[in-house]
Amino acid sequence: MEPASFRRTKIIFTLGPATESEAMLERMIRAGADIVRLNMAHAKHDWTRAVIRRIRAVSARVGREVAIMMDIKGPEIRTGDLAAPIELRAGEIFDFTVRPGGGGGGGAGGEEIRSVDVNYQNLVNDIHVGDTVLVDNGLLRLEVLAKDEGHIRCRVLIPGPLSSRRHINLPGVKVNLPAFTEKDRADTLVGLEEGIDFVALSFVREAADVEQLRAFLAERKAKVRIIAKIEDQSAIVHLDEIVRACDGLMVARGDLGIECPFEDLPVIQRRAVRTCLAQGRPVIVATHMLESMITQPVPTRAEITDVANAVYEFADCVMLSGETTVGKYPLECVQILDKIARRIEAEADFTGREPAVFTGERMKVLHSAVVLANEMPNSKILTFTRHGFMANGLAALRPTSAPILAITPYPELLRQLRLLRAVEPFLMPFATEPDVTIENAITLLRQAGRVVPGDKLIIASDIVSSDRLVDSVQLRTVS
Ligand code: PEP
Repeated sequence: MEPASFRRTKIIFTLGPATESEAMLERMIRAGADIVRLNMAHAKHDWTRAVIRRIRAVSARVGREVAIMMDIKGPEIRTGDLAAPIELRAGEIFDFTVRPGGGGGGGAGGEEIRSVDVNYQNLVNDIHVGDTVLVDNGLLRLEVLAKDEGHIRCRVLIPGPLSSRRHINLPGVKVNLPAFTEKDRADTLVGLEEGIDFVALSFVREAADVEQLRAFLAERKAKVRIIAKIEDQSAIVHLDEIVRACDGLMVARGDLGIECPFEDLPVIQRRAVRTCLAQGRPVIVATHMLESMITQPVPTRAEITDVANAVYEFADCVMLSGETTVGKYPLECVQILDKIARRIEAEADFTGREPAVFTGERMKVLHSAVVLANEMPNSKILTFTRHGFMANGLAALRPTSAPILAITPYPELLRQLRLLRAVEPFLMPFATEPDVTIENAITLLRQAGRVVPGDKLIIASDIVSSDRLVDSVQLRTVS
């Protein structure tokens, strides 16, 4: 069952120890979560298969099918194993070694230079003297002083503890690692076997990265949609082409905030959301939305405002990560996102925003449906969708207040429609006659309590005209 009232902004949460039990999954789905994200950086295949099956079983029991997004790791550079964590000191000279025994030896004065391995041999070719190396989410900062084929010698600028297998960020460095790695392939194949709905590709740097994944999916005839995660400076440079190539964008603020100057982050978020709106692509604002709730039962005032800002910006989805994987209050996080989104949606004046591009005849028809809905208070848009085009187009045009009730005959598409702002999907087989399909849909919506007699429905659908299907917009009053 859908929640009684309607929230336009969708909620994604990341599954982890705090939420993976059947009982918690049920509570999260009932609370209104729309999409479950599996972060493959931390997932084994047995776990992945088990939780996908569990999500499907719980969804069926609750009567509300949520979508599953597999977030694959993409190109990632990590430090190797250390026997024990070490404490890096400010000003210390430190080596990253890329080949066994590649350490640069002692310093000029014969002093011992400590080192750690890195999992990417070509790093010495990609990196330059003067570049910055950030380790463990930017907690450690080093500057490159010298390099040879075996190691990179750095000075520690921001000191701290270094433990095994920490993530390395190299702001502004073009890393020549493949976009879609062997691990990503293996993970995606498991996802396809288990029937995931979305693949989120990490560290997308240009459109070709998305196209590589699309070719992989097409070879396997998979209808999974691609979410491009923008996380570094190269993605910002190629933003337009990436948005065009993907089915949805994630503003992955965790890594973006490390790879780019932090003061650029709000500017990048706004630009990314607007680019998606202009090109009719759904967009997710992710990471640190309610970070303090990993340990505290209430959000900070700044977090409330950050979530509100994403809703004001017209994002399709907001996303939770650590809050729901290891946090103490995962259910409360979903409830709080739900509450903030509803409040801002009721308040926001969305007039005067930049319009989505509506080139092409079908988009023009959909645009006229949205104009009609915007001019009729309390109207609802009803649409019928086999491939998602109609629902996606209507959502991209961001009707001011009308919900988009989207009827589809396919359960996979129903789940994928969960990504789209203001779209409420319903499953129903289509009749041969479009008019019968419309009548059946109105009956279904009446039974679900989503329309009542007297409601104005703006219907964007196919109709038969001279034995051909044509796009149409109709206005009907529910009887
Ligand atoms: C991010 O960096 O914000 C993000 C969502 O990616 P990940 O959690 O995979 O680092």
